[in-house]
Amino acid sequence: MKSLTRRLLPALLCALTLTAVAQTPSPTQDTGISVPNMDPSVRPGDNFYLYANGGYIARTHLPADRAGLSVFSILSDRSFEQVAAIISDATKSNAAAGSNERKIADLYRSYMDEAAIESHGLDSLKPRLAAIDAIHTQHELANALGLSLRADVDALNFTNFHTANIFGLWVAPSFNDPDHYAPYLLQGGIELPDRDYYLSTSDSMKEIRTKYLLHVSAMFRLAGLTDPEARATRVVALESAIAQQQISLADSEDIHKANNPWHPADFNAKAPGLDWPEFFRAAGLDKQQTFIVWQPSAFTGEAALVASQPIDAWKDLLAYHLIEQYGYATSKALAEERFAFFGTTLSGTTKMRPRDFRADVLVSTTLGDAVGQIYAQRFFSPEAKSQAEAIVANLLVAFRTRLENLTWMAPATKKEAITKLGTLKVSVGYPDHWRSYAALNITPDNLFANLWNAGLFEYHDSLSRIGQPTDRKEWCMTPQTVNAVNLPLDNGLNFPAAILQPPFFDPSGPAAHNYGAIGTIIGHEISHTFDSEGAAFDSKGRVRNWWTPEDLAHFNAVTAALAAQYDTYTPFPDVHVIGRQTLSENIADVAGLAAAFDAFHTSLKGSVAPKVADFTGDQQFFIAFGQNWGSVTRDAALRQQVLTDPHAPGEYRALTVRNEDGWYKAFDIQPNDKLYLAPKDRVRIW
Ligand SMILES: [Zn+2]
Repeated sequence: MKSLTRRLLPALLCALTLTAVAQTPSPTQDTGISVPNMDPSVRPGDNFYLYANGGYIARTHLPADRAGLSVFSILSDRSFEQVAAIISDATKSNAAAGSNERKIADLYRSYMDEAAIESHGLDSLKPRLAAIDAIHTQHELANALGLSLRADVDALNFTNFHTANIFGLWVAPSFNDPDHYAPYLLQGGIELPDRDYYLSTSDSMKEIRTKYLLHVSAMFRLAGLTDPEARATRVVALESAIAQQQISLADSEDIHKANNPWHPADFNAKAPGLDWPEFFRAAGLDKQQTFIVWQPSAFTGEAALVASQPIDAWKDLLAYHLIEQYGYATSKALAEERFAFFGTTLSGTTKMRPRDFRADVLVSTTLGDAVGQIYAQRFFSPEAKSQAEAIVANLLVAFRTRLENLTWMAPATKKEAITKLGTLKVSVGYPDHWRSYAALNITPDNLFANLWNAGLFEYHDSLSRIGQPTDRKEWCMTPQTVNAVNLPLDNGLNFPAAILQPPFFDPSGPAAHNYGAIGTIIGHEISHTFDSEGAAFDSKGRVRNWWTPEDLAHFNAVTAALAAQYDTYTPFPDVHVIGRQTLSENIADVAGLAAAFDAFHTSLKGSVAPKVADFTGDQQFFIAFGQNWGSVTRDAALRQQVLTDPHAPGEYRALTVRNEDGWYKAFDIQPNDKLYLAPKDRVRIW
């Protein structure tokens, strides 16, 4: 929940994503607010989202291979065009074996070489499927489950809580010793995006489950396994049982429930059923003396299922998850079946993204820093960096002033908050140093091997960090990523180069637009430092309760009102936005908007902002903010987003303006306007 929008790229590898890269002509101008994107027939007080974006929505038609388009996807488009140029140059460079350029070129080739993929075919999967088939004892099952562990989750930075492996590993600064990295273990075990897909009794979810059973069966059949229907039935039953043991996304987001240090002996005592010593031995974690278990009840429940459910069901689950994760790299038929379910049924797209695009995405994520190093050099000017840093500095001043003027917070708490703001490390554009890919072996003609090696490379890299001193300057996003992130355990922010471009940011554009667009995004990330999660970490990144009970009571009361505000938004008759699940992000939007509005006014130094298309500076500021969230999304994808994303859909993020007094003044919003909130109902936090 710390990032600005959900991390989309891993899913994109199979073209499953909600928003990513647009093909429609850019609907925004490169400077200032986009008037053609607006709908002047809508009154701003009735539907500010449509007022700011109605023109864009009306003329945006989703191509068959897109689940959604948005302003973020316009920028992603641009970023991927830039990345494509970097990759294309690498393929022509004939770079030395072992160099980053050569790895970029070879990974790209391995994805594009469909003949090589089909010639290796299922042979790549067979030895691994045979190993699963040879499991006969609980000891061997624990070994296989341990071998499946990967570093594929992230609880606080990207907030990715999903892994299909039984558990997921995340290595990050320790809650209890933030100067060193510690292993966090998270719940997992299901392939569908969230436990609600297994547990909900709504008709639409039942229909998805019926299609899912057919899909699992088809995957087994296409991978050449016997009895595909019986295996699929066992897998879905076991995943459903696992889903019942999982805790909800909203509960997973509550870090006050997550700091559970377990020693190896605790696993046997608190979560009997799995042969834990063998699990940890296979996972390369048998020397580790402490883990932080994020969702203890799920570990208890899932370990019990290992003992209570038939071993054949677990073998089928392991086989299916292997086929689902890697099958697309071994056969066109498996890739198409996977897309038919995850791309079409779950996201509403009917066509895959072009192959070369998917290859670019794979390279840009797997070799993120290798591509990013070239990207930052080539596409991020020193001028953009210094101007973005100036906006960040003004936002920090605005926050500091707001903290100093707070009346509800105890002086001691306020002092620590201001200290925390003072030690916040804000990095703009790209990291100071880059990771090495020396240990990652890439070949030009075996995609499966490359994907397998890349997964292990990430895992071993994470293992090697455990116990090491924390690198406070580390980045968790690549420069080519259109997003921004707050790293609470590092007390740091990353603003990648790729988001610091029009339409979010233009060094030569009007201040009203820059503050309304990128300024509110910067404010959003800064505010995570002080939201319901950030408040759990002190200025050194330690988990420490530095708030008085009265501070916390006030904060909880105000934010409960905000959660209730979002609960009223209903994109579908059977689904409403989950106020508690999206609370941290909504707080960040409210606070970011307020601080950016202050910073905009400070930047004017007493002068009047020039009008653009007859809009005042304040109007441009709010329109720019509303236009950040313009989007068109297919229903299936929107449903998935509401259930699995800590961020509310863009339509509702734009309505954050309801809580900002300046918006009422700028557009003369009156009590008879639909979005009007009485001053006492406007949520003010910082
Ligand atoms: Zn956020």
